Amino acid sequence: MLFKDKSAIVTGGTRGIGREIVMMLAEEGANIAFTYLKSASDAQILVKEAQSRGAKCLSYQVDVRDFDKSKELIEKVKLDFGGLDILVNNAGITKDKALMMMSRDEWLEVVDTNLGGVFNLTRNVIVTFLKQKSGLIVNVSSVSGIIGLSRQTNYASSKAGIIGFTRSLAREVAPYNIRVNAVAPGFIETDMVSGLKEEYKNELMKRIPLARFGNAKDVANSVRFLLSDAAGYITGQTIIMDGGMSLAL
Ligand code: NAD
Repeated sequence: MLFKDKSAIVTGGTRGIGREIVMMLAEEGANIAFTYLKSASDAQILVKEAQSRGAKCLSYQVDVRDFDKSKELIEKVKLDFGGLDILVNNAGITKDKALMMMSRDEWLEVVDTNLGGVFNLTRNVIVTFLKQKSGLIVNVSSVSGIIGLSRQTNYASSKAGIIGFTRSLAREVAPYNIRVNAVAPGFIETDMVSGLKEEYKNELMKRIPLARFGNAKDVANSVRFLLSDAAGYITGQTIIMDGGMSLAL
């Protein structure tokens, strides 16, 4: 078990990639605090599932856009688990639209959730990590933030911002034995992509050398690696898991 007795926070844990990361951490022996936005019943189901793997697991309703609630969360988790070692910033949304049709609210909501959420959680956790001279952070970016995708100026900007945030913070906190990395998934089969039109999915598939969409396990596997001692000399990096999509011309 890679993370026995380590305590971890995962944002947006109830479904998709976040859920898979919670279950991966449970299987690796961590104590897990995950946040959810709305669905208390889904959160309860996941708590039970993680507990059935022998993990200590608690859920907390927190909107990652709320700085003060994020601060309260960190304090609560430290009390509930007696410490904190890992932060996985996973929560994120899309509001895809051509720029000429995009409202200011659609811009702000995506940037505030995806990038603002990373700031809110990390800003509040970093003091603890600096004091204890240890900590591990993985941020969920996207291949969209690297290659750019049409109709995703808001999303791609937020995800590119996460990469810059990751690199800058990694330099800043490396002397305190804190590693900060990111993962950049391509198209992963979750609720976030299930709404895409079939024709668009077929078009996308032609651009993926491995000729399949990824699954949440593909992402959780890279998060596991980045959090493990096997990645002990890796900081400020972004692992792309996109079936080779960003290579294709
Ligand atoms: P999803 O929509 O299934 O899950 C997103 C989670 O974030 C949900 O649990 C949701 O409740 C939570 N969330 C949204 N807004 C929130 C807020 N304001 N406060 C707290 N929680 C909030 O999507 P997913 O595919 O599992 O995405 C997880 C992460 O992976 C996101 O950051 C997403 O941008 C990123 N990502 C996904 C893909 C993909 O193809 N699915 C590709 C690249 C990156």
